[in-house]
Amino acid sequence: MKRLTTAAALQAYCQSQSEVTIGLVPTMGNLHGGHLSLIDRARQENDRVIVSIFVNPLQFGPHEDFEKYPRTLDFDCQLCQEAGVDAVFAPSAEELGISGRAPADSDGKTSLRTTVVPPPKMTSILCGRSRPGHFDGVATIVTKLLNLVRPDRAYFGQKDAQQLAIIRQLVRDLSIPVEIVGCPIVREPSGLALSSRNQYLSHEQKETAATLYRSLQQAQRLFDKGFRDRAKLLEAVKTELSTVPEVRLEYLELVDPESLVPLASVRRKGLLAIAARVGETRLIDNLLLNARPPIIAIDGPAGAGKSTVTRQVARTLGLLYLDTGAMYRAVTWWLRECGVSIEDEAAVAEALQRCDLQLKSDVEGDRCRVWVNRQEVTDAIRSPEVTSAVSAVSALPVVRQFLIQQQKRYGETGGLVAEGRDMGTCVFPDAEVKVFLTASVGERARRRKLDLERQGYEVNLGQLEGDIAERDRQDSTRTIAPLKKARDAVEIQTDNLSIDEVTDKILHLVPSTH
Ligand code: AMP
Repeated sequence: MKRLTTAAALQAYCQSQSEVTIGLVPTMGNLHGGHLSLIDRARQENDRVIVSIFVNPLQFGPHEDFEKYPRTLDFDCQLCQEAGVDAVFAPSAEELGISGRAPADSDGKTSLRTTVVPPPKMTSILCGRSRPGHFDGVATIVTKLLNLVRPDRAYFGQKDAQQLAIIRQLVRDLSIPVEIVGCPIVREPSGLALSSRNQYLSHEQKETAATLYRSLQQAQRLFDKGFRDRAKLLEAVKTELSTVPEVRLEYLELVDPESLVPLASVRRKGLLAIAARVGETRLIDNLLLNARPPIIAIDGPAGAGKSTVTRQVARTLGLLYLDTGAMYRAVTWWLRECGVSIEDEAAVAEALQRCDLQLKSDVEGDRCRVWVNRQEVTDAIRSPEVTSAVSAVSALPVVRQFLIQQQKRYGETGGLVAEGRDMGTCVFPDAEVKVFLTASVGERARRRKLDLERQGYEVNLGQLEGDIAERDRQDSTRTIAPLKKARDAVEIQTDNLSIDEVTDKILHLVPSTH
């Protein structure tokens, strides 16, 4: 594992890795299980993992614990090495151009000249109320790290939900080409969220601090019974908190998890966030309340029965069958309508700007109807011309980017079943149900042979097996959208199962509240 301390060394290392994917995990060090979960996720999803360790002076206020913050670099590096990290970047403040403290405290003395200022609406509530300048300091350093490393993905904990929302917004607003991955909160058995600041707590204080999560769970219970109203949910938390006077509440809020706008009630998703002091130690915690109808993501190799099963699951549950193949076909149809050559990617991007896609399940629910700019193209996209061009069109990064954005837009309201190769890993990483359908090469070849024979073709089984094995190899090794099982996907081996049996297995995975 490399230990890097200068920006020049970091950039040189990253440039030497330009052929592979890089995951960045920004931290302030004093690593614990929460950080390790981020590293673990980054390890699974990237070829190289870089952990930055930097106690960022810009995000500490004048009366905060900057000096006292635990610094354990050698131990952190040891943990990183054991976790399979490729490089640790641990610069000094001067190396990053900083000599002062939080921008709000800067009195013009900080030598880092540019401050990144996220939308004040997002930084002036929750923790921002008592920590002016904190998120400007976070955003400035995160932007700098992203520019130095240029990672494919950067990992942040849901524990700091406000930070995560602000960074997502920052990356969108500044068009920084990175995927921000949010990771679930890791907790002690008591429910206390792991934090470097927990070590300021005595044994008794730790027990007291576990009240934070316990009180949030009271709201979750009400939510599960169908309560959506802000006042009721907050009251449930406060009632539980009031039983432990040693916990001094700083704020308790119900906000939209993306925009951080306060909510009067939860329609789809709500973030219940809390900050409190136990003794002198300031602790934060939160809970995501999810009322969105479920997303079911079905991935797997070609020929495992995905499309038939997906249709059947969608029909049974009355959900939208998001036929992503049809979306690629619709774009192909549109590009042909516009007369755009796929060699000219810029022209393709411009044409996509004028492509308004709409999808709806038809009455029987087993077909996806498609409109482009209000014109129905459900049948037109099955023409031989589209069929022969769709594969080349799907390989264009601008098309993929455009369609992933569209697919994610459908995901905002939930209530859909989607199949593909990267639905659970890339398009809907927070899908409620993720399935990875597989079948042996032999079985898939047999199914394909039957299919082709039904269409009147004579084929050789051995030849088919060879083709399928080769396609698997290509699908799982390519750089764009490789076939990969999401770490939280349930694998279903379909060799000896009928379509109904597979469908049944999937239906059992759907949470009963939906
Ligand atoms: P920090 O070192 O406190 O700046 O944290 C570095 C990253 O680890 C941030 O993205 C945090 O949100 C994340 N993190 C900290 N604690 C936890 C936890 N208990 N569970 C998951 N992620 C965490």
